[in-house]
Amino acid sequence: TDSIDSASILTRELKPNQEFRFEVPPNNSITIRLTAGTAGTAELFGTELSKGLPYTFTCCKSAIYTWTGCSLSIEGSPSVEYIAEETPMSTYLNLHIALEKLRVGASDCPPTAEGAQGPRILLVGPPDVGKTTLCKILTGYSIRQGRKPMVINLDTAGEGVLSAPGTLSAASFGSVMDVEDGFGSSPMSAPSAIPVKLPLVYYYGLEMPESGVKRYKRLISRMAVAVNSRLEEDIETKNTGLIIDTPSFDNQTNGDLISYIVAEFSVTAIAVLGSERLYNTMLKSFSSSSVSVIKLPTSGGCVDRDAPFKKAIRDATVKKYFFGDEKCTLSPYTVTIEFDSPGFALWEVVDANSADKNISFLPIGEDESSLQSEVVRKLAANEVDSRFENLIVAVLQVDAKEAGAKEVGESAVLGFVFVQEVDEKERRMKVLSPVPGRVPAKALLVGKWPEGMFLT
Ligand code: ADP
Repeated sequence: TDSIDSASILTRELKPNQEFRFEVPPNNSITIRLTAGTAGTAELFGTELSKGLPYTFTCCKSAIYTWTGCSLSIEGSPSVEYIAEETPMSTYLNLHIALEKLRVGASDCPPTAEGAQGPRILLVGPPDVGKTTLCKILTGYSIRQGRKPMVINLDTAGEGVLSAPGTLSAASFGSVMDVEDGFGSSPMSAPSAIPVKLPLVYYYGLEMPESGVKRYKRLISRMAVAVNSRLEEDIETKNTGLIIDTPSFDNQTNGDLISYIVAEFSVTAIAVLGSERLYNTMLKSFSSSSVSVIKLPTSGGCVDRDAPFKKAIRDATVKKYFFGDEKCTLSPYTVTIEFDSPGFALWEVVDANSADKNISFLPIGEDESSLQSEVVRKLAANEVDSRFENLIVAVLQVDAKEAGAKEVGESAVLGFVFVQEVDEKERRMKVLSPVPGRVPAKALLVGKWPEGMFLT
């Protein structure tokens, strides 16, 4: 009834520079509106809310910030909600303004000149300090400024940006981001829903860079080459530059990996969040280079998300890849893959722990030295069993027939399927696919991350 409905609507009046922080568990959802007919604007991590429009949130910890003051109405019951007065937003805005100055400088250069390259900023820090959030804010602000930033996600442990968890991705953002969805997860199955050109996606298939440093670095290098060649064809994106989000780097042992990323992507600035120590390490490491290192405050709103919450977010990302969401429902297809068909080749990501035992699985015709340098291995058909059920499998861009370990190890991703059932006796498996028809005769790659899940 009306009385119950109005009772469950909260109104929150925000003063200038305040933010409304809220948390919604996976099994619940809330709807927030920027109250129509009142003054004031509001934004969620850099992206402006439209007045009166309902935005629905589930399974998230988030915040709506206002520079002007505003009125919000909230339907449903968030598990946590409060108004915060202290935020780092003005520092983040200043960073955006500094980047924007460099972009103006880059745009003024002749298109061919070296100077036409906009700033390339790398965000680093421990877990849950707001790296991904700042990445969204900087992206949102630059889009609102009419720029086209290239956003690069190197965090394979996280929720998955523009694709499934476990991937590295890069895409240039041409228009406004989705308030509820941020960077989204299913561009390949729902291109219209996300404001990016086809993203570049590589499937790493492990949680941490440390589990497969060699493979991780190789994918970084491949991606850097691909990104640079895209920038050469897209001067607006080149002028705007790169915003690079990273996995959690919080100690010295990761220094080598950070330097590697900085070199491969020709990073011009490193922003360190949430770790004085890492900031000092970075200052020292890059003191003799032209890379600027800056320290940024962490938002008090940043929350540690416990393991089950993070898993729920990852599962939801994969689910959305196949089934879409309320705004854009997708109907995946169940497709059969025969192990004995000529177009079948299933490869597995090798992690640091299992590298040794692989020697006994040496495929015929490959010597040990080549194997030791490889980071993926081909599975024999009789090795495909039920342990692959409930995992995602990357359909790579390289052909199943021709590809060797090197090609498979470096190939970009065409899309993903989800293994529903492996029938060892009949030598086939049933998979969920975003597109109808047979799965193309491309090399398939299965990883160890994200872990198995139930999609229904
Ligand atoms: P990192 O990328 O460093 O791991 P995130 O940017 O993902 O950290 O932030 C950690 C969590 O805190 C996320 O769930 C994010 O939505 C949330 N968060 C970040 N900033 C705020 C804020 N100002 N208010 C409320 N929640 C926030």
